[in-house]
Amino acid sequence: MKTLTIKKENCPQTHSCPSVKVCPVGALSQVAFNAPEIDYTKCIACGKCSNFCPKKALILIQQ
Ligand code: SF4
Repeated sequence: MKTLTIKKENCPQTHSCPSVKVCPVGALSQVAFNAPEIDYTKCIACGKCSNFCPKKALILIQQ
């Protein structure tokens, strides 16, 4: 099983997160320019956001 995690140290937190719009189930949200938050009740661990984030701040981990 894979689980999405956020490496906040990789996120510059200076911009609107483009990965929020990529998620097909609306599992990512962002307050101001903070690193995005994951709603684990929605996330299906599809990997679209982790493939999209250029800073590798969203990582799918094999559990
Ligand atoms: S892994 Fe997929 S479902 Fe989960 S937050 Fe990223 S884009 Fe959304």
